[in-house]
Amino acid sequence: MKQNPWHQALEQLDQAARIMNLDPSVHEVLRFPKRTLEVAVPVRMEDGNVKNFTGYRVHHNTSRGPSKGGIRYHPDVHLDEVKALAMWMTWKCAVVSIPYGGAKGGVVVEPKELSLNELEHLTRRYASEILPLIGPERDIPAPDVGTDEQIMAWIMDTYSMNHGYSVPGVVTGKPLSIGGSAGRAQSTARGVMYVTVATLKHLAMPVDEARIAVQGFGKVGGPAVELLAEQGCRIIGVSDHLGGVHNPRGLSPVGLAAHHAETGTIAGFEGGVPITNEELLALDCDVLIPAAIEGQITEANADRVQARVIVEAANGPTTPAADEILHDRGIQVVPDILANAGGVAVSYFEWVQDLQAYFWSEHEVNARLRRVMEESYIAVLDLAEDRKVTMRQAATILGVSRVAEAHTTRGLFP
Ligand code: NAD
Repeated sequence: MKQNPWHQALEQLDQAARIMNLDPSVHEVLRFPKRTLEVAVPVRMEDGNVKNFTGYRVHHNTSRGPSKGGIRYHPDVHLDEVKALAMWMTWKCAVVSIPYGGAKGGVVVEPKELSLNELEHLTRRYASEILPLIGPERDIPAPDVGTDEQIMAWIMDTYSMNHGYSVPGVVTGKPLSIGGSAGRAQSTARGVMYVTVATLKHLAMPVDEARIAVQGFGKVGGPAVELLAEQGCRIIGVSDHLGGVHNPRGLSPVGLAAHHAETGTIAGFEGGVPITNEELLALDCDVLIPAAIEGQITEANADRVQARVIVEAANGPTTPAADEILHDRGIQVVPDILANAGGVAVSYFEWVQDLQAYFWSEHEVNARLRRVMEESYIAVLDLAEDRKVTMRQAATILGVSRVAEAHTTRGLFP
């Protein structure tokens, strides 16, 4: 059975707190989300009937700044998942030193089953219901699983209509035409690429021809395949929710993208043999990149992983029990709160550009992103080596200690 992600997140926090001797009164505060909102989202469907969807928005912590986090549209969304994702956002923003707290939102819905009209109405109603929690100084949503830049545009418009003027800084991951940032669409994947290359170099493994397997071919997995192939890596396996494909000699990134654009999935791509998601996770490769959803590498399959390195592009893909098995087997795990932080880093750049109404070139965005990722990677690696802990423990300790410092400096209200 899949582990509850909130329990997973708490276990990671508790473990870091033990190792770092965290002040128990700060630990107590960090174990609870600051605010949790559940909303009803009624939508008139194309057949004339009204259907209700349940939505959430959670702020985990705002000690370091306004909260930041994506919005997920997925049938399996539940409150504990949103709480876990919000907590991970708090640590992630702190790990890459950007002045945000952590938040997350979600709606229990399969967006692929809605018409465009239904999707717009659902989004605008959900945005209206969470309006008291969001705003450029308060909480800034972004895309996540099942949401995209069009959905961000509708949220930005709904918020702006309520205020009577355009407020581009209320969401990130927007289209360029309404205040989006150059480089945002590929930023998470680009960050994953930078830390993958840094890890290979650190382990003295050649980047050229490094054999990579990627689970998930969405906004993160798709561009990750393209960017890693550009670095000379060999993509030997890819999968999505409908299945996967394997070719030890390498899959064509261009062919995969074209097949996905045409069919909406990489299943059925003819450049290799069909495999299941379980088989993808156990492929003989150098780097495994889970880029789909949480709870994929568990105690049930961790002993079958053959990769030397796991770079977590998805949030929470590895359970704590699996972490232990991977550690004992000498498999390096580059944790989500470091590996996929490129998205929130460029979201921060987008927000800064919106607030100043002054926009940067893609080259400038990518150069700044690279610096953030490489410096954060070194900070986590140094701490891991110093304290003799795993990269996940080091990243969590770094994130928690920065949040704890801000919390303690501000003091407990009232
Ligand atoms: P997406 O909706 O664009 O793509 C998700 C991909 O995962 C799709 O290819 C889908 O087919 C696949 N998938 C879904 N369920 C699956 C399953 N059970 N087995 C195998 N594949 C499955 O989402 P995304 O934005 O690419 O996000 C992917 C992951 O990256 C999530 O964990 C998300 O939280 C994380 N993330 C995303 C961003 C971002 O900027 N979009 C930033 C940081 C982290």
